[in-house]
Amino acid sequence: AKKAGRGEQRTFHDAMNAFAKDGLVIDGALRGAIEANEFYLVYQPITNAHTGQLTKVEALLRWNSSLLGPVSPDRFIPVAEDSGMIIALGTWVLEQACRQVGAWKKGVLDDVTISINVSARQLADPQFVTLVSQALIHNGLSPHQLELELTERVLIDDTANVQAVLGRLRALGVGISLDDFGTGYSSLSYLTQFHLNTLKIDRAFVMDIEHSERSNSLVHAIIAMGHSLGLQLVAEGVETGGQAAILEKMGCHYLQGYHIAKPVPPEDLLRFASHLSGA
Ligand code: C2E
Ligand code: CA
Ligand code: CA
Ligand code: CA
Repeated sequence: AKKAGRGEQRTFHDAMNAFAKDGLVIDGALRGAIEANEFYLVYQPITNAHTGQLTKVEALLRWNSSLLGPVSPDRFIPVAEDSGMIIALGTWVLEQACRQVGAWKKGVLDDVTISINVSARQLADPQFVTLVSQALIHNGLSPHQLELELTERVLIDDTANVQAVLGRLRALGVGISLDDFGTGYSSLSYLTQFHLNTLKIDRAFVMDIEHSERSNSLVHAIIAMGHSLGLQLVAEGVETGGQAAILEKMGCHYLQGYHIAKPVPPEDLLRFASHLSGA
């Protein structure tokens, strides 16, 4: 199979991917994947809804497995969470993303905030807060340039002593963002109980905002509630100009989605930013 042409290789990967529906296969392939340099990050712009300015970028993990070909994070993250490998992988993401922002600081992206997805297992790791502050120091970032994205599930998991950990992170000056808002089991009390900065309105609601009265009202209500609690709002999965216009009018602060840009490698992000700034 090694000598096969591109087409055949793809077929091989397709076959391996079908095989990889089994979590055990993914688990096996994940071992050694960090050391083998099989991971990389792509970055998706998050722009100010009003000015169009690039304000934040979300780092999204990609895995090009030598055995399975490209595997989506929706498939391998849960496996890495089960095995505990997410701790090592999450640390790699944190370091890599902060290093990238450190490099960007020298150019047009001098004050961009990086958003990183964090799993419950990472937050429960006693080393986590130390790892975060080290990554900031190593790469010369100010704490406000880092935002951690958590899902509602993380907040429910009280074994992680989440409240105390988030308190320490906030004391450092790091931002905390609630991801996929509206899709979980959330009790609205989370919004006041935890010190959050940002709510990310899930794509499921944004998707139908132009055509469904229900989604439209729901997003409207989330935005109004966010405003009254002093939270920043990011709409995820913005795919059309119509959605962007409605969200801006409703007072949503930031937009993210294919309408603005897809997740891209770091060089392309630099080009996107230069383009916006007219450089
Ligand atoms: P997420 O955090 O909700 O990330 C947003 C997902 O939506 C990304 O998928 C992104 O590529 C996709 N997306 C962005 N804009 C649009 C749009 O306009 N339309 C559509 N249809 N999709 C859009 P991706 O990169 O496949 O990541 C999937 C999930 O994997 C993420 O969902 C996140 O939960 C998880 N993930 C990704 N990277 C990491 C990581 O470094 N650590 C952890 N723990 N989880 C990660
Ligand atoms: Ca996210
Ligand atoms: Ca999300
Ligand atoms: Ca999601």
